[in-house]
Amino acid sequence: MNYDVIIIGAGPAGIFTAVEMLRRGSKKKILIIEKGQPVEKRHCPKSQTGKCMNCKPDCHITTGFSGAGAFSDGKLSLSCEVGGTLPELIGEQTAQETIAYTDNIYLEFGADEHVEGISNPDKIREIRKKAINASLKLVDCPIRHLGTEMAQQLYARIEKHLLDSGVEIMFNTACDDIIVEDGVCKGVFCSGNAISGNETVIAAGRKGADWLEKICVAHGIGHRPGTVDIGVRVEVRNEVMEEVNEVLYESKLIGYPAPFRNKVRTFCQNPGGFVAQENYDDGLAVVNGHSYKNIKSDNTNLAILCSHNFSVPFNQPIEYAKKVGELANMLGNGHILVQRYGDILDGKRTWEKELSFSNVKPSLPDAVAGDITAAIPYRTMTNIINFIKAVDDVVPGFASRETLLYSPELKFYSNRIKMDEHFNTNIKGLHCLGDSSGWTRGLMMASIMGVLMGRELSE
Ligand SMILES: Cc1cc2nc3c(=O)[nH]c(=O)nc-3n(C[C@H](O)[C@H](O)[C@H](O)COP(=O)(O)OP(=O)(O)OC[C@H]3O[C@@H](n4cnc5c(N)ncnc54)[C@H](O)[C@@H]3O)c2cc1C
Repeated sequence: MNYDVIIIGAGPAGIFTAVEMLRRGSKKKILIIEKGQPVEKRHCPKSQTGKCMNCKPDCHITTGFSGAGAFSDGKLSLSCEVGGTLPELIGEQTAQETIAYTDNIYLEFGADEHVEGISNPDKIREIRKKAINASLKLVDCPIRHLGTEMAQQLYARIEKHLLDSGVEIMFNTACDDIIVEDGVCKGVFCSGNAISGNETVIAAGRKGADWLEKICVAHGIGHRPGTVDIGVRVEVRNEVMEEVNEVLYESKLIGYPAPFRNKVRTFCQNPGGFVAQENYDDGLAVVNGHSYKNIKSDNTNLAILCSHNFSVPFNQPIEYAKKVGELANMLGNGHILVQRYGDILDGKRTWEKELSFSNVKPSLPDAVAGDITAAIPYRTMTNIINFIKAVDDVVPGFASRETLLYSPELKFYSNRIKMDEHFNTNIKGLHCLGDSSGWTRGLMMASIMGVLMGRELSE
C-alpha cells in the first residue's frame, strides 16, 4: 500500500487537511487511518442506559470520524484568541483569516448561519465593566453553535464528501507506529502491516496524546512538555446565567486570584446544557459538558480551569493530572464526584440527599455526591474558590451555596511538538496537527491547522 499522504486520526484537524487538499484540486492519493467508527455508527449507549457503559475498545464520544468533535457541543470559536496557541506559530493575522475561510466551509456543509455574542454591544460593555471591577478580563469571542446533534449531521456530510471524492478511510484501525529511516518518515505500521506514505500527518487528538508521547521518545521527535489544566465543571440554574447566556452565549473570563495569582479561566460554557462523562482508554473518567441545539436542560455548565506547568526535577504534567483524576475517581468509586459550593466552604462533603434540597439538579445523574476537595490540590482548590467569588460579582448567584462543582475536570494538552510555521517536524515528511500537536485546544483551531496543512500538502 502506497499513498502520497497518510493522515492518522479523523478528527477536525485530519479531515480538514483532506477537505482543503480536495478544494485545491489536489490529485494526491490520501489515506485517513481512524481507530474508531464512521460517524453514522457512533452511538453513545448512555442515552438508553442512563449511565456510562465504558465502551471497548474505544469510547464513542472521543473516537471515530470527526473525533472529539462529533459529540462535542459544536461551539466554533471565531476568535484566534481562543482555542490554543497556534497563532504564536503562524501569526495572528493568518490565524484570523483562516478562521474566516474555515467558517465558510462549515457553512457550506450546513452550519447554522447565526453567530452568538455580537448582537448586543451595549450589554457586552456593561458585563465588561463588572468584570473589570472584579479584576477579571472578558475575552470577546463570537461563537457559531452547531449543537451536538447538528454537529454529527454536518460531519456526516463531510465524511460522505471525502469518500465520494476518493479519499480512503480505514476505520477501526489504530496506527501503532511510524516508519522512520535516516531521519525521514516513510509511512506507518498498523497491526504489524507497513503502509508507505510520502507525507505522514499525525492528528490523533487528546485521545492519542499518550501514544504520541511514546512515538516522540522512540523516534526523537522534537517536543517539550505541555500544560495541563486541572479544575472543576460548575453547574448552576439557567436563571443565574441568563444575562451572559443571552448576550455572549459563552462568557470567557480570565482572572489571577489571590493569593497565588495563577491564571484561572472559564471554558466551554453550555447554556441549557448537560454535564457529561468522558472515559479514557486507561479507565480514567473525567467530566465535560455539552449542549444540544434543540434539547435544553434547566442548567448552564462551564469549566473553571487552572493551568499547571512543571520543569525540574519533574516534568510530566499529564501524569500529574492523571493522579489527581484517579484520586477523584477512587473517591467516587469510579464515578464523577459532585459537591455543593457551600459544603466546600463549610469543609464538609455533600450527601446524596442534600442534592435534592437545591434549585439546581445535577444534569449528570450518575455523578455521586462526595468531597472533591479530598482530591484537588490545595493551591488549585484555593484558586477555584477565589475565582468563583470574583465571577459572582459579574454573575450574581454564581457563588451560591447550591452551585454544583464536578470533578475531575482535566484538560490534557499533549506535549508541544516543535515545528516550523509549515508544520514540519525534525523528521522529514512528518507533521503533527490539532490537539495532539499541543498547539490547539478546540474545534475551530484544530480545523484551521488542518486547512493550512492541506494547503502545504496540495502543492
Ligand atoms: C465532550 C466534548 C465537548 C467539546 N466541546 C467543544 C466545543 O464545543 N468547542 C470546541 O471548540 N471544542 C470542543 N471540544 C474539543 C474539541 O472536540 C477538540 O479540540 C477537537 O476535536 C480536536 O480536534 P483534533 O482533530 O485535533 O482531535 P480529535 O477530535 O480528538 O480527533 C482525533 C482522532 O484521532 C483518532 N486516533 C487517536 N489515536 C489514533 C491512532 N493511534 N490511530 C488511529 N486513530 C487515532 C481518534 O479516534 C480521534 O477520532 C470538546 C471535546 C469534548 C470531548
